[in-house]
Amino acid sequence: TCAETSAEADDAAGVLRRVFGYGSFREGQREIIEHVVAGGDALVLMPTGGGKSLCYQIPALVREGVGVVISPLIALMQDQVDALTALGVRAGFLNSTQEADERRRVEAAFLAGELDLLYLAPERLRAPGTPDLLDRGAIALFAIDEAHCVAQWGHDFRPDYLALSTLHERWPAVPRVALTATATEATHAEIASRLGLEEARHFVASFDRPNIRYRIAPKKEPRRQLLKLLRTEHPGDAGIVYCLSRTSVEKTAAFLTENGIEALPYHAGLDARTRAAHQARFLREDGLVMVATIAFGMGIDKPDVRFVAHLDLPKSVEGYYQETGRAGRDGLPSTAWLVYGLQDVVQQRRMIETSEGDDAHRRRLGSHLDAMLALCETVECRRVRLLAYFGQRGATACGNCDTCLSPPETWDGTIAAQKLLSAVLRLRRERHQSFGAGHVIDILLGRETEKVVQHGHASLTVFGVGTELNESEWRGVVRQLLAQGLLAVKGDYGSLVLTDDSAEVLARRRQVPLRREPERPARAEPAARS
Ligand code: ADP
Ligand code: ZN
Repeated sequence: TCAETSAEADDAAGVLRRVFGYGSFREGQREIIEHVVAGGDALVLMPTGGGKSLCYQIPALVREGVGVVISPLIALMQDQVDALTALGVRAGFLNSTQEADERRRVEAAFLAGELDLLYLAPERLRAPGTPDLLDRGAIALFAIDEAHCVAQWGHDFRPDYLALSTLHERWPAVPRVALTATATEATHAEIASRLGLEEARHFVASFDRPNIRYRIAPKKEPRRQLLKLLRTEHPGDAGIVYCLSRTSVEKTAAFLTENGIEALPYHAGLDARTRAAHQARFLREDGLVMVATIAFGMGIDKPDVRFVAHLDLPKSVEGYYQETGRAGRDGLPSTAWLVYGLQDVVQQRRMIETSEGDDAHRRRLGSHLDAMLALCETVECRRVRLLAYFGQRGATACGNCDTCLSPPETWDGTIAAQKLLSAVLRLRRERHQSFGAGHVIDILLGRETEKVVQHGHASLTVFGVGTELNESEWRGVVRQLLAQGLLAVKGDYGSLVLTDDSAEVLARRRQVPLRREPERPARAEPAARS
């Protein structure tokens, strides 16, 4: 269906060269394209930036009919279509943001066989009329982009994605290619079964991004820590800073700007025009820092992002990998930097506890968080952990991540853990109350705060037994116990409670190795509590 007419132009390598202007395929692309061109179903697992689009765009051009692409990235459809149009590929899209006129024009082009690619929002496929429309045209293939949306944990577009399982019932002869950048082995299997792709060939590309240096540090004064990183290691570089909340995005962008680093905010609370303008500047200008919530970045293709910094803990390793994967697409050395602290763990556990959905859903969110925490607290090579998470086992230590470059010291935290857990236990026994980390630490340090006095906690046997560590070190202990599942948080105020495994430690049947925290910053201020 390519605009080209000569017979030899129809082979994949020819289209790659003539239409897209590239000399060779990237890893995996040729095999996938040949398989789909021949009419086979495929499940493609390739990291962000790996070149997934060509895996369906080229087969769509080579095969008879229109390639129908189901994508949840509605905001990017216009850009994708513009980019293809500029290459001489005839493309259109159908989504809910469109005027009726425009929709009719695209439908007419589809029916007249004047399209090579048609992008469809997932809800469109369930809209009355769309299946009939597709029936009346010739379809080269179905591409299901961001296929992990069908998985349990990717539930934003899930109902629409589940409906995609009917594609092969209605159009059994049309090959389907499902693509995702984020999938563990379990998610991979779930995608295959939900979309009826059990028989499809699986293509799994390497997830290693050797040019990215992974670093994860305890959060003390996040903005100052960030500023130091940018000044010392990334002056004048373009990068993305991720924050959890809109307020924190605004504050961080303002903070960087005040300190002479040009930074723009990006979050869903800004109007569409401002967001588009900031995104365009980030793509066009050199050395801009985008401070954003995770609303930013899906489908962003800027090769020279030198760093991705997280000021808050990502909810899953998938998210972390996807976000950090936006760094260094040009292959040059880049940094993935994350700071996280006790408050992150408390906050995220609380968000999970109060999240909508059933228990199974909450358990899933919990295990995603656990995996992320395990990556943060590991004393092994970060890359080895990351690759193992995505099913690539047997990698050797990379020599380029923080734990490889300066192996973290561990210390025997068993006694400290026992003290802390007994304090939690004592407080619980007493009138069945639970308290947050701050109060428990005050008790261990023997501080006669107002709250301690009010509750008479100075008379507890654990009062003042923990003066060998300072407050910041105790917070590190709490955080690591939470990460190891030896302690849990509950309720709106982040109260500490024991877990089943806590008993093992209290009974002295279990050792608790802990990572030694780096030196405290010179100016330890109350912000260190976050
Ligand atoms: P993904 O969807 O996997 O994140 P894209 O399909 O957007 O990745 O591709 C990422 C970038 O790599 C794009 O700029 C694309 O044009 C480029 N690219 C893809 N395949 C090739 C290739 N064979 N040669 C050169 N560049 C490529
Ligand atoms: Zn390493």
